[in-house]
Amino acid sequence: MEFGLKGRIALVPAASKGIGFGVAKVLASEGCKVVISSRNQDSIRKATEQIVRETGNREAYGFKADLTSREDVDQLLVSARQKIGSIDILAYNTGPPKPGTLTELTESDWDYGIKLLLMSATRLAKGIVPEMVKKQWGRLIFITSTTLRQPITNLLLSNTVRLSLAGLSKSLATEFGPKGITSNGIMQGHILTDRQRQIAEDVSRRTGKSVEDAMKQALLDVPAGRYGTVDEIGYLVAFLASDRASYINGAMIPIDGGMIKSVF
Ligand code: NAD
Repeated sequence: MEFGLKGRIALVPAASKGIGFGVAKVLASEGCKVVISSRNQDSIRKATEQIVRETGNREAYGFKADLTSREDVDQLLVSARQKIGSIDILAYNTGPPKPGTLTELTESDWDYGIKLLLMSATRLAKGIVPEMVKKQWGRLIFITSTTLRQPITNLLLSNTVRLSLAGLSKSLATEFGPKGITSNGIMQGHILTDRQRQIAEDVSRRTGKSVEDAMKQALLDVPAGRYGTVDEIGYLVAFLASDRASYINGAMIPIDGGMIKSVF
């Protein structure tokens, strides 16, 4: 596909595997220069090499950064700037929060979840938006979850803390829309990654079902009858990042095979 993204600089955090990796790979295949990060040096190096190998785009750079650490986030932005320049596209992604109910989650689980799911997004946006304002062009794309619209049993952290990203994205859309910046979010449903297996293992522990049966059961609510792929998330992100989507601002778009049942 041709989205007109050649030469744009994109940052995709939490991208050594799963959705972040898929998004970074699609953006690289569209000609973006991509910066990816995750907590482990070796896995982010391997992911970067895989993107270069599979897309033929040599402009992929990997950095170690734990999104729950303010210092790491600050350093990630400095390294990205030094290596390739100021960021045009933030495809915000993060690691999965711990599953659990109100009784199971501890005070420190909540602290960690808030740092992971909310503070990392505000810190990245705060660090990047001033450069976008100077250029009068930018794309903020917050990869969230269908839990914003329809809570999932036993995923209390995701159901609760992630909702704040809807407020953040909408507020940034209003504040920076006049500066040529769009801010949107996507709410993905069941996408086939290790996270789905982690959730199925949690269901299996609670119910005694096998992990395979738990994975099949999750699809009963999905009219499309299958898991989504990380490439499908990547193509939606690429479209939102393109000039063709410049009139989409402040939207929160589901990509879930029809799983969300509400009309609005
Ligand atoms: P994944 O487990 O496959 O990949 C997560 C990535 O995040 C990995 O690269 C990991 O190294 C990185 N990571 C984890 N903690 C980190 C931290 N503290 N700092 C930096 N990097 C960190 O997960 P995924 O399926 O790709 O999910 C990505 C996000 O989307 C998660 O927040 C997840 O909860 C959410 N989500 C996933 C699905 C799905 O169906 N897969 C659905 C809705 C929401």
